[in-house]
Amino acid sequence: MVTAPERVDAVVCGAGIAGIGAAHALIRDAGLSRVLIVDEGAPLSLTSDKSTECYRNWWPGPGNAMTALTTRSIDLMESLAETTGNAIQMDRRGYLYLSARAEMADYLEATARESESLGAGALRFHGHADDYVPRRLDGFAGQPQGADLILDRALIAREFPYAAPDTCVALHVRRAGALSAQQLGMVLLEQAREGGARLLRGRLTGVERSNGAVSGVGSHQMLSGASRGTTDSRSSKVSLTWRSHTTGTSTPASAATSLK
Ligand SMILES: Cc1cc2nc3c(=O)[nH]c(=O)nc-3n(C[C@H](O)[C@H](O)[C@H](O)COP(=O)(O)OP(=O)(O)OC[C@H]3O[C@@H](n4cnc5c(N)ncnc54)[C@H](O)[C@@H]3O)c2cc1C
Repeated sequence: MVTAPERVDAVVCGAGIAGIGAAHALIRDAGLSRVLIVDEGAPLSLTSDKSTECYRNWWPGPGNAMTALTTRSIDLMESLAETTGNAIQMDRRGYLYLSARAEMADYLEATARESESLGAGALRFHGHADDYVPRRLDGFAGQPQGADLILDRALIAREFPYAAPDTCVALHVRRAGALSAQQLGMVLLEQAREGGARLLRGRLTGVERSNGAVSGVGSHQMLSGASRGTTDSRSSKVSLTWRSHTTGTSTPASAATSLK
């Protein structure tokens, strides 16, 4: 069965964290309302449920692309955490690099200097200082940015009691930690749904273009209960139309004709 073309503002292929994040931004930031997310599996069920669920703005070069991208992402996640009572369980415990070799201090300082130059925040030294701000295991408010290079064994033993007794160098990266990636995805999905996003269980099979823009997509809808990757579970075909934002007109897609 081929269903009548449906008109939407945007189609997002995939309901992983990237697709759900894109749908959320299209609705919350770009002002669209009819956003269709197409996925052949359940939301957040492929790569997005394998994550270690950690984040950091600490990335080597060349260039500051990753530092800038992750800093912006962390800004957005913190903002979401603040407005949802930290529904995404975000913390700021940081990343920790430890060594029992004193000469590693130079190497870790060099990496920290590079990250500092890329915009990840300032490096602080703690030889025998006591101005180190301990990590928080819950929440993220009031935590420093950048990194702390700690060469004081007593301070290392006090703050990281699980470290080997001969640990003499610690680099604590501060704008980093963990969160519930599943919760993050679900909060974004629910907010996107409130703004008009809809999930379609199906496989995107084709993209149509006209006048240099996407005008439609084709999708095979999955039978209820069908598993990801199966080819014999299709019960119908769905054609979608894309409303062109350059012309303000709608072009009915004939994508269904290109489907099996
Ligand atoms: C072991 C592991 C640990 C990780 N740890 C971290 C971490 O600590 N921190 C971190 O930031 N990142 C981590 N990552 C990376 C992170 O998990 C991925 O970058 C992220 O989940 C990718 O999301 P995605 O939406 O791009 O892809 P996916 O989650 O794979 O989503 C893609 C979706 O698209 C759908 N799809 C594809 N083609 C079609 C089609 N034609 N029609 C319909 N649907 C389609 C798929 O079914 C799927 O659901 C880790 C990854 C792994 C594997």
